[in-house]
Amino acid sequence: MSLFTNDAFLSPVLLKPISSMSGKSCPHAEQLSQYKISQARPHTFTTSNGAPIFNKNAVLTAGPRGPMLIQDVVFMDEMAHFDRERIPERVVHAKGAGAHGYFEVTHDITKYCKADIFSEVGKRTPMFLRFSTVGGESGSADTARDPRGFAMKFYTEEGNWDLVGNNTPIFFIRDPILFPNFIHTQKRNPATHLKDPNMVWDFFSLRPESTHQVMFLFSDRGTPDGLRHMNGYGSHTFKLVNKDGEAVYCKFHCKTAQKIKNLSAEEAGKLAGTDPDYSIRDLYDAIEKGDYPQWNMFIQVMTFEQAENFRYNPFDLTKVWSHSEFPLIPVGKFVLNRNPSNYFAEVEQSAFCPAHVVPGIEFSPDKMLQGRLFSYTDTHFHRLGTNYIHLPINCPYRSRSHNTQRDGPMNFGDNQGGAPNYHPNSFNGPVERQDVKESVFHVTGDVTRYNSHDEDNFSQPADFWNKVLNKEERQRLADNIADSLAECKQFIQDRAISNFSQVSADFGRMIREGIEKKNKGVDHRHHL
Ligand code: NDP
Repeated sequence: MSLFTNDAFLSPVLLKPISSMSGKSCPHAEQLSQYKISQARPHTFTTSNGAPIFNKNAVLTAGPRGPMLIQDVVFMDEMAHFDRERIPERVVHAKGAGAHGYFEVTHDITKYCKADIFSEVGKRTPMFLRFSTVGGESGSADTARDPRGFAMKFYTEEGNWDLVGNNTPIFFIRDPILFPNFIHTQKRNPATHLKDPNMVWDFFSLRPESTHQVMFLFSDRGTPDGLRHMNGYGSHTFKLVNKDGEAVYCKFHCKTAQKIKNLSAEEAGKLAGTDPDYSIRDLYDAIEKGDYPQWNMFIQVMTFEQAENFRYNPFDLTKVWSHSEFPLIPVGKFVLNRNPSNYFAEVEQSAFCPAHVVPGIEFSPDKMLQGRLFSYTDTHFHRLGTNYIHLPINCPYRSRSHNTQRDGPMNFGDNQGGAPNYHPNSFNGPVERQDVKESVFHVTGDVTRYNSHDEDNFSQPADFWNKVLNKEERQRLADNIADSLAECKQFIQDRAISNFSQVSADFGRMIREGIEKKNKGVDHRHHL
């Protein structure tokens, strides 16, 4: 019996999300009935080698009480596959939901970008979008205070373009060498296997470039109401190149047409316990009901000259480009109008990579982007295998791959048939195209490890505090931080408050007061 999970014996009522108990007509609750209608006559049960099965309810035994025979290949076949059902969970962004849709150009940006996807107003390109939380495991709660992944895959006629963003335009760090360490602080303590606020705030307070994103995270937008009511951002600075080879730097913004909607900290906390799949269900049901979510895409553009003379590093992922200096330019919209027909095949096996660009879209020197160009494919090779790009959800099916890559585990398809697997060759192997040459750029500088620890960490957080948030939003931000920081050692609290005080003296004071209020009476902190 220990081979089986206890879940199999739980009452189905206990497994049902509270909010769906009364919702008999909700689309997600109808999925199996819909299958039954579509499959009027059941298929014959088979083994994995396709042989029909006589009895799927009893193992093969010598006599009614056993023992079992090892020649019960029907049982062995199923059990051996079951034992291998899970692929490695994503280290980050493990819990997610996805949907199919299309991107449509609404405004001409060909003077900036020659990419096929933007070639004419009205042009539609199929896409897939995967949303996720970041830190939690694949069974964790959807409403956790966490950034949300916003990973877009556009199946263009010149290859797949992946814009692998988040629901925030910035990030916690600006140097990718810190990434695995930062993520460790969001995960479980290796000794206790518990989430550990001391790890989180130790890192944040030692790396004050995280202040801006930490403020977004603990603001109202840190707990979005589902996945439809939040913005998406390409976050990094990219480069757009037009047909004359002229380049500009660019940022991508995708604004929700459903309007921003957030959960209060209390609602989010409650839902985490009562309805942990809240966001996945909300997205699924909205699409099944025909209430298709839409986002409008904009770009910001900066010339090379502006970038060279700019007052801060325009490739710093902890900073935004001000809207008043670099106005949003409308580009298009995208609509999600089809749920995956199989979660594992389409969502779990989907694999996005910032290195997947198409002619007309290139990289900037953003160090975080450069770091991600390596790590995503590396991860997919581990998680899905060398030929992950052959999987239908990842395959560039509108352009096809023609190259000299061959073989590898689980290679399916025709392995590029009889085409030459070497280059150059004299036998009509694939040929190059001159008009897709990358833009030429000039680089100078001494090679060393530059510490970017204190490159103006507080001006933009101060703008956010002073110009964007109203009085109530500021109070909630300070309270949310205080609630989390109150769990930490005194010296970590002091260091974090000293950083927030550089954003605004009021901010630091409000957090200090919040911690004192929370600890009044019962001070469970461990002072050094
Ligand atoms: P603007 O006044 O033009 O824009 C302010 C931005 O803040 C809007 O994009 C708004 O998003 C967004 N915003 C509102 N509340 C929150 C929140 N709780 N968390 C994250 N974003 C929020 O300002 P500037 O461009 O001059 O920038 C001022 C400050 O605004 C920046 O320092 C930065 O902190 C913040 N910001 C700027 C963005 C940018 O790309 N310039 C993007 C996001 C934030 P919306 O319009 O969708 O409601």
